[in-house]
Parts: sequence; C-alpha cells; structure tokens
Amino acid sequence: MTGAVRFIRSAIVMGLACSGGSAWGQALTSQQQAAVDVYRELVEINTVTETGDTARAAEAMAARLRAAGVAESDVHVLSPKPRKGNLVARLRGNGTRKPILLLAHLDVVPARREDWSVDPFRLTEKDGYFYARGASDDKFMAAAFVANLIRYRQEGYKPDRDIIVALETDEEILDADALGIQWLLKNHRDLIDAEFALNEGGGVGLTGGKPVRNSVQTSEKVSVSFQLQVANSGGHSSVPRKDNAIYQLAEGLTRLSKFDFPLRLNETTRAFFERMAQAETEQTAADMRAVLADKPDPAAFARLSANPVYNAQLHTTCVATMLQGGHAVNALPQLARAGVNCRVMPGEPVGEVKATLERVLADDQIKVTQVGNAVLSEPSKLNEEIVGAIEKLSHEFWPSAVVLPVMSSGATDGSYLRNAGIPTYGHSGLANEISDVRAHGKDERIPVKSLYEGNEYLYRLVKALSGGA
Ligand SMILES: [Zn+2]
Repeated sequence: MTGAVRFIRSAIVMGLACSGGSAWGQALTSQQQAAVDVYRELVEINTVTETGDTARAAEAMAARLRAAGVAESDVHVLSPKPRKGNLVARLRGNGTRKPILLLAHLDVVPARREDWSVDPFRLTEKDGYFYARGASDDKFMAAAFVANLIRYRQEGYKPDRDIIVALETDEEILDADALGIQWLLKNHRDLIDAEFALNEGGGVGLTGGKPVRNSVQTSEKVSVSFQLQVANSGGHSSVPRKDNAIYQLAEGLTRLSKFDFPLRLNETTRAFFERMAQAETEQTAADMRAVLADKPDPAAFARLSANPVYNAQLHTTCVATMLQGGHAVNALPQLARAGVNCRVMPGEPVGEVKATLERVLADDQIKVTQVGNAVLSEPSKLNEEIVGAIEKLSHEFWPSAVVLPVMSSGATDGSYLRNAGIPTYGHSGLANEISDVRAHGKDERIPVKSLYEGNEYLYRLVKALSGGA
C-alpha cells in the first residue's frame, strides 16, 4: 500500500472512529500499520483452546519473523500435538546479560457469534475500539511482541541480551494437558531460559479516560479446593433424629461464613496498599495505613475487608461454592457435601489452610479432603532495574497513573515460570477502562488508541531493559 493510499484509508477509518467519540484522530505511521496488521492476522485465526488452532497462529507469526530476516535457526514452531502450537523466537544480543523472555498466550476462551454484536473472529474497528475475541486477552501482547521484534530486527538493534518471544498454547485451561508452558519448560528450557519474563496480568487502568494506575503483577494467589462431607446412617423421614448430615454440614458452613483468615501481607500487597492510599478517599486511605502499621488495627482491617477487591488482597479466603445432599425427599440424608474454594496467599502452606478449615468447621464428622493439586509460587521480587524502568517510562506515557504492584487473585501461566526460577512480571502497557472488563466475556475490546500506544510502550520498555534506552 502506498503512503498516500494508506493515509486516505487511515483518514477514513479514523473519521469513523472519531464520529464514535474516539480521541484517536491521526494517520497511521508505518510502524502502527505494521502493528495492526500483525494484530489483525492473529485475532482472525480462531485459537479457542478446545476447538481452534494455535499451531496455525504460531506458524503465521513465525512466517512474519522469518520474512523480516530473523534467522531460521532462531524461529521455532513447536507443536506437541496437532492444532497445539507454541512459537519461540530469539533476537540475538551481544550476550552481556542473560536473556529477557516475553511471554504471551495464543489460545483464547470460546466466543459464540450469537452472543456478540460483531463477529468475534474478525477484527472490527467501531466507536474507537477494536473488537475481537482475544483483543485484550492475550493477542494484544502476543502481536505487540512479534511486531516489535520485527521492528528491532529491521532497524538493526543490537540489545545487550537476547530478546526471546514465546507464544504458548493452552493458558486458558492453565495448561491442564501440559502442552504449553510446562511442555516448553520441560523439553526446551534452553530456548526460553531467561533472567526474568514479562507476561500478561497487569495493565493501565483508566477512569473516564484518565490513566489512574499502571499495574505490575508480581504474584498470584493459589487456588485450592476442598470437599466437605458428612456421612450418616440415614433412615425414614417419618422418624427424624437430631443427628442429620444436612444440618451438621450447614452448621459447619455457617461457622465458616463468619470466619476470616488473619491479615497476611507480603512485599507486593504492602506496596499495593501504600500506593493505593495516595489515591483513595480519606477514611479508606487511613484504613490502608492502619493495616500496614506494626500493630495493624483490626477495625481498619474489617472496614477494608468489606470491599471484595481489597479483601482478596488482605488474606487467604475460603468460600463455599457448591452444595449437594440427600437422596430422597422422604429419607434422612446419608450424605451431605459442599465444595469450598480457597485462594491462598503465596507462602502460606496449604496444609495450614486445611487445618484452619477443620478448626473452624469444629466438627470432626465433617471430613475435609483436598481436591486436585495446587500450583504454589513465590512472588517475584520488586527488582529496582525493572520497576525503575517501568516507572520512568510509565511517567512519560501516562503521567497521572501510579505504578502499582499487584497480586492477582486469579491465575496465569506466570506461576509455572516463577516456580521454574524465572521471575515474572505481569505488565502489558495496555490501557483500558477499569470498569470495562470484557476479557472472557462478550464484545471483548480495547481502545484503538491503546493498541498503538501499548505497542510503542512495550517497544521502548523492552529496549530500556536490554541496554538500548
Ligand atoms: Zn490471558
């Protein structure tokens, strides 16, 4: 496409965007055009974990990298199974420092055409937004890493460490079949070994278009589930007795509902509350400072816990999520069962959580059994080199946003990397309204402006972290 044609096309596109109230109103530079081209190709390949094809997406990105001159021997498409692909590509540096790993996932959660206002597997630009499944989770990062690696290559950039891009499959099912990040770590550790990694998990939060925070995810809570079960000899409901499996379980659950795990902060959540206190209302800010004190104030802890988001940052939580019991309406129940899901603070032994549950349920006839395994991982250190580079650059891009270390209450593949000894920071540079959470939902979207801005931010951040700033 010639420059003039591109300009006219961009002007038309942007004109439409502006009529929808977008702040974006400029012609695209060649870098921006390249970025959106990669992004479009990636979102238009259906990579739904169960039914799509991540190998095709990995091949498409590999073809772009090879065409841009990245050495054949540095571009690997690794497919442990048909339709399951991982891409690993490397831009060689001068080897002064250990490589940096840029990780993103290729797969997406399902999207049904009838639920969406647009086709989820076409990139639609509308009202100042790009709509598509994976628009934010996680094809923005995957495409930006590829486009930026091509850009470094084209400008002949020589970093002081190798820059590795790894695009993996099956993150959306937490790599349940071990075909994604676990497979890479097990079979090709040499290809992805790095001093640290950037991954999804933290972005730029906007409130009414104003940047208020730029998150750096350094840790994740651990999801562990337990089954609670009460067995009873049962009998005829016409001759009820006081011992009853349903009542016994219900009473235990009621005790659990009134219980709060003790306050437990770590480096990340301390930094989170210190910085949030600067932006919060007076009472909430005072409460945050009071829980950070040497002798935390229980009343402040209780008030902060009333906010579910803050509550999740303050301690381990366990909540009843499923209930089942009895076998006939005219029979005394022989069995009552509940499912309880806990989100455990990093560093807290799962055995202690189970012991606490048993103590709180306070009935030795309620049997507590752990369901499945828990992937524990330690928080990544708030390293000055990384956080310093982020703060400096973030201030240039979004001066009103506070750089905020965060612990996710959900999980990403970052925990596998952290457990493998690669500190991992969730940081995307993608700006979106805090109240407009659509990842995994319908009409997933990102602001058009955020695509170009986020690409540029990641381009400069990775440069700053590889000796090029
Ligand atoms: Zn994701």
